[in-house]
Amino acid sequence: MRYDVCVIGGGIHGVGTAQAAAAAGYSVLLLEAKTLGYGASSRSSKLIHGGLRYLETGEWALVREALHERELLLRIAPGLVQRMPFLIPVYLGARRGPRTLRAGLGLYALLAGLRRSARFSVWPRSAWDRLDGLATRDLVAVFRYFDAQTDDRALTEAVARSATTLGAEILCDTRFERATLAGRGYCVEFSGTRQGTAQCLALVNAGGAWAPEIAGAIEAGPPPPPVALVQGVHILGPGQLARGIYYVEAEDGRPVFAMPHPEGILVGTTETAHTGPADQAVPTADEISYLERTYRHYFPGCPWTTMSAVAGLRVLPANGPVGGRFRGARVVLGANGRSAGIYGGKLTTYRLTSGRVLARLRPRLPRRTALADTARLLLAPPP
Ligand SMILES: Cc1cc2nc3c(=O)[nH]c(=O)nc-3n(C[C@H](O)[C@H](O)[C@H](O)COP(=O)(O)OP(=O)(O)OC[C@H]3O[C@@H](n4cnc5c(N)ncnc54)[C@H](O)[C@@H]3O)c2cc1C
Repeated sequence: MRYDVCVIGGGIHGVGTAQAAAAAGYSVLLLEAKTLGYGASSRSSKLIHGGLRYLETGEWALVREALHERELLLRIAPGLVQRMPFLIPVYLGARRGPRTLRAGLGLYALLAGLRRSARFSVWPRSAWDRLDGLATRDLVAVFRYFDAQTDDRALTEAVARSATTLGAEILCDTRFERATLAGRGYCVEFSGTRQGTAQCLALVNAGGAWAPEIAGAIEAGPPPPPVALVQGVHILGPGQLARGIYYVEAEDGRPVFAMPHPEGILVGTTETAHTGPADQAVPTADEISYLERTYRHYFPGCPWTTMSAVAGLRVLPANGPVGGRFRGARVVLGANGRSAGIYGGKLTTYRLTSGRVLARLRPRLPRRTALADTARLLLAPPP
């Protein structure tokens, strides 16, 4: 088996890189140890957004490019990414008061290009009783703006289907074991449903929270940058939110979303430092009760029972406080220019990150005729 590019990990970045490489005309093999989207790519908040909160840390460029990708995904994946209203209630004594929110939402609209759908409004006081049971005591204002929502696993699978259509080979239940230098590239060993070796000219470590561990098994690969794994939990409960996604402030000032979900209401997320193997991310009792308290506080008349809880791991730079850190992806390249690693990043910007990874590896890849442009390839929901 000989390929131009071998990708490790079938999360959004792995399938995105496989799609980008196949679209550029390269032969591609992707190895996924479990199922597509098994990691963070099925455990996210499922938002395709610029990230309003990142304006607080001054990451305007990151927000602007994510807003641009949001619009592109709304166009190329209409059955998978939907524009959604977001509601931000502001209460007396809130950390972010109406003035701060007006300024933030104004800037967010500006970074989105001031298009019609980017404008925010104030939900009229006379209609507060139509806000899905939201607490109105001490409520000062409710802002409404638009971002987008997806099914993260379905999006990952759709990008994988697109990559396969372009000729990429994707092996699930197949674990990358190690890569050793061989000729002008790597010899990659894998085990699982399929067992064997493959030769490739370039290797991409898109292992998400497992990337640091995978990096240790790549000869002359890029050393992993210092990263911290931060756990985020979501809980799912019964009910319906008819007006959109609520963006509230938890007791510690952190933003928490209450979102409509096909099976009820999804509430998240937490930010808890994770130590230990990436496989051992499990929701803690404290995280579940923190989210339950937040939901019950804002929707006091609505009964809540947690039906299920799921934990995902974010890969963030190791320095600084757990919350509010830079969410951009870091792409590192090995000294031989033949292996790259992806650390962190967002579902929303997977296409840009994947394109950047490929651009870094291209000097070591042969010339090929491009088959397609990922900005124009339609992503279809499951057949
Ligand atoms: C709680 C939470 C909420 C988030 N919310 C949002 C959001 O609302 N919007 C947004 O844009 N982003 C969000 N993100 C970020 C986004 O989900 C991630 O950046 C993205 O999913 C990471 O994708 P990935 O492909 O890098 O990693 P992953 O999805 O984790 O994929 C890594 C894959 O590698 C596989 N793997 C591991 N070891 C091996 C091996 N040895 N061989 C083969 N395969 C292996 C794993 O099984 C896994 O499938 C959130 C993240 C978290 C954790």
